[in-house]
Amino acid sequence: MISQNGAVRRVWTEIDLKAIRRNLSTIRSLVGPEAALLIVVKSDAYGHGMVEVSRTLVRGPGPAPAASLQSGPGEMLFGIGRPEEAARLREAGIANDLILLAPFLRNEVPDIFEHNITPSVGDAAGAELLNRAAMARGKKLAVHLKVDTGMGRSGVWHEEALDFALEFPNNFPHLHMEGVLTHFSEADSPDGDFTEAQVRSFNALTAGLAAHAIKPRFIHAANSAALLKHRATYFNMVRPGLCVYGVFPGIWRPPDLNLAPVLSWKARVTLVRDVPEGRFISYRRSFQTRGRARIATVSAGYADGYPVALSNCGRVLVRGKSAPVVGQVTMDQLLVDVTAIPDVFPEDEVVLIGKQGKEQILVEELAQRARTIPYELLCGISKHIPRFYNEL
Ligand SMILES: *Cc1c(COP(=O)(O)O)cnc(C)c1O
Repeated sequence: MISQNGAVRRVWTEIDLKAIRRNLSTIRSLVGPEAALLIVVKSDAYGHGMVEVSRTLVRGPGPAPAASLQSGPGEMLFGIGRPEEAARLREAGIANDLILLAPFLRNEVPDIFEHNITPSVGDAAGAELLNRAAMARGKKLAVHLKVDTGMGRSGVWHEEALDFALEFPNNFPHLHMEGVLTHFSEADSPDGDFTEAQVRSFNALTAGLAAHAIKPRFIHAANSAALLKHRATYFNMVRPGLCVYGVFPGIWRPPDLNLAPVLSWKARVTLVRDVPEGRFISYRRSFQTRGRARIATVSAGYADGYPVALSNCGRVLVRGKSAPVVGQVTMDQLLVDVTAIPDVFPEDEVVLIGKQGKEQILVEELAQRARTIPYELLCGISKHIPRFYNEL
């Protein structure tokens, strides 16, 4: 990737918007045409660029807006984590419903009205704040009731949720309960018992609501892992993030599922050196050459989001081959052993995440090597790194 002034880039990402489209079709085919999709784009779409991703999703496959993707029964909404994300999306012309998944702060209440955000509420104090603000504006505000069935982060405890929901119209007359949601704690676990228990609690609530003729427009629970593993979690809307970006929450990939990674992360060889036997490499001498070696310096480090935890256990691709990370990852450089790879030169492209030749490094693999989760790696790719998008 050469920049406009002809300089060789040091570190960048490439985002495959076509892959996002294909992943969306795959998800649509899993859940059927009727289900609504709440696509989670919080945290800058997991580092992929929230505006570009959302625009790609609402535009549909052709040049004209595709009805099947954004309106009618199978409509599309976006999930955000902070009100300022709504401001960016609205500025970019995104008119779809925006569901604020995280709790809001008191001072953010005006933003909820200004940017037409649909907040999730999971406690009486939060609902009361919104109710008063809606009353003051002479409005009825749509909200989604958040129920804690075992995630243990936010929401009305499931044992109290039915009473809370039944009293909702009396207690908060300026709010409209448009949705009900819960969130899974370990839907990616090989053991589905806890998820199933959460589903049972949630089912009990929606059945209780139905018995009182309350049918919220949106009932939703499924994150990516639940979407891929637990059909009983779909209700009438699913709420995937990670799998839209072609990444799986665990190391497993369901076979025959057309979900392709969207993001590639690349850097450059800056220097290649012959190193004699017995030399220490990088800070704190955690790696020592066992024989004559050739070590390449690469233009990315932890300031770019490449974790120090990958010191002596990461790998990169160069000249279509895999090269191990040796020594400690430093702030803006890392070192790889290219002794077994002939003809490595400065300016060679280095793949940190993605494909090169026949080789591929998945973010799931890298996360496992770093003893973290793919989410953290993706979100950790520094904001200062340029993102390049392919044409649709
Ligand atoms: C982030 C988030 C999601 C998306 O989870 P994935 O595992 O990325 O699919 C769904 N629901 C809530 C409440 C979230 O916070």
